[in-house]
Amino acid sequence: MRVLGEAGMKEKGELVDGMYTRVNHEALTQFVRKVLEKFGVPSEDAAITAQVLVKADLRGIESHGAARLKRYTDGLKNGVVKTNPNIATIYETPVTAVLDGDSGLGQVVSHKAMNMAITKAKQNHIGLVAVRNSNHFGIAGFYGLMALRQNLIGLVMTNSEPLVAPTFAKQKLLGTNPICVAVPTGGEGFVLDMATSVAPIGKIEVARRIGKKVPLGWGIDADGRITDDPEEISEGALIPLGGFGETLGGHKGYGLGVVVDVFSGVLSGASWGGNVGKTQGPVAPNVGHFFGAMRVEAFMPLEDFKARMSKFVRSLKDADKVTGLEEIYVAGEKSTYTEQVRRKVGVALDAKTVDMLTQLGLETGVELSFRKNVS
Ligand code: NDP
Repeated sequence: MRVLGEAGMKEKGELVDGMYTRVNHEALTQFVRKVLEKFGVPSEDAAITAQVLVKADLRGIESHGAARLKRYTDGLKNGVVKTNPNIATIYETPVTAVLDGDSGLGQVVSHKAMNMAITKAKQNHIGLVAVRNSNHFGIAGFYGLMALRQNLIGLVMTNSEPLVAPTFAKQKLLGTNPICVAVPTGGEGFVLDMATSVAPIGKIEVARRIGKKVPLGWGIDADGRITDDPEEISEGALIPLGGFGETLGGHKGYGLGVVVDVFSGVLSGASWGGNVGKTQGPVAPNVGHFFGAMRVEAFMPLEDFKARMSKFVRSLKDADKVTGLEEIYVAGEKSTYTEQVRRKVGVALDAKTVDMLTQLGLETGVELSFRKNVS
């Protein structure tokens, strides 16, 4: 059963009630870490990657959680993802840097890059770090939250394998290129963390698996026509945020996807657009990321800013509501609530993910300690 909060806020997630297993997040983190170590990833790097994956499960973003582990281990197995990358600083100024991830796990170089941006921001008010030669980094929000915890404004972008067609085009020439902006408030913070496509590819994959149609407007077929058939969308492309054509602003989502790629791909020295590869091969994908951290005190005292943000958020939440709807949310609110709940009741894994993790446990000889914690 989904857990309901005091304000009627529902635990979020993409799972169907009754079709998932609750698992203790700490035990799952240890499991993921140990599996990665068995594939040769150094302990500290494995721990970072495990934290990023399980954070997605905690925040109700199962598509980017432990369910992704096999793609990473496949990449490690075939050498497309290096276990011991030589992460190098290619270029550095007091406020900027470019890191080369040497085709290691995206989470490892991203954690390093955001820490670098944070250090620079603390010293010089702002830190901007671009990354080339990386792999899939998981949820952008993880790194935005790193800045937020230090009372800094965080900015995160990444490109990803091409799945989205530019407005009026048929081909996949952009990734779902997410962007995260994390801003301190008096409360838990404003954390916008979103793909720049209408729907993420994970939802198309789920519909394909269970033989269901998807809403019209998520994707096009290979001839560029809107379709609700996930098989046809897999042959065609996803649609940029805003929708098909220009009527509902699809051209703006397309523009946002390009902006993400300008910073993550072109400026970083990574691949961009249609040339970005996949984490599981066959060649190094050269994914690019961009991380920013900004000191509020470079503009006004932190406490004044937080008070102003709190008032702003309150004004949004207190707006007159559409009849029948009980709550107005701000970005990050549902994820924060879901994380609070799941730290107590466990994260939710679907049967396919549990099977995949069980297989990986058998393959690597890592005890499925998280299973003991299932409630
Ligand atoms: P969602 O559509 O679920 O949410 C996008 C944002 O909208 C979140 O900040 C969310 O806050 C907020 N939100 C949701 N509902 C409301 C509401 N009613 N009112 C106000 N704000 C709301 O996310 P996406 O499907 O676009 O992306 C999911 C994840 O996938 C992200 O973490 C992203 O980083 C990741 N991703 C990673 C990629 C990669 O290559 N590494 C590629 C694409 C996506 P809240 O979190 O509180 O729900």
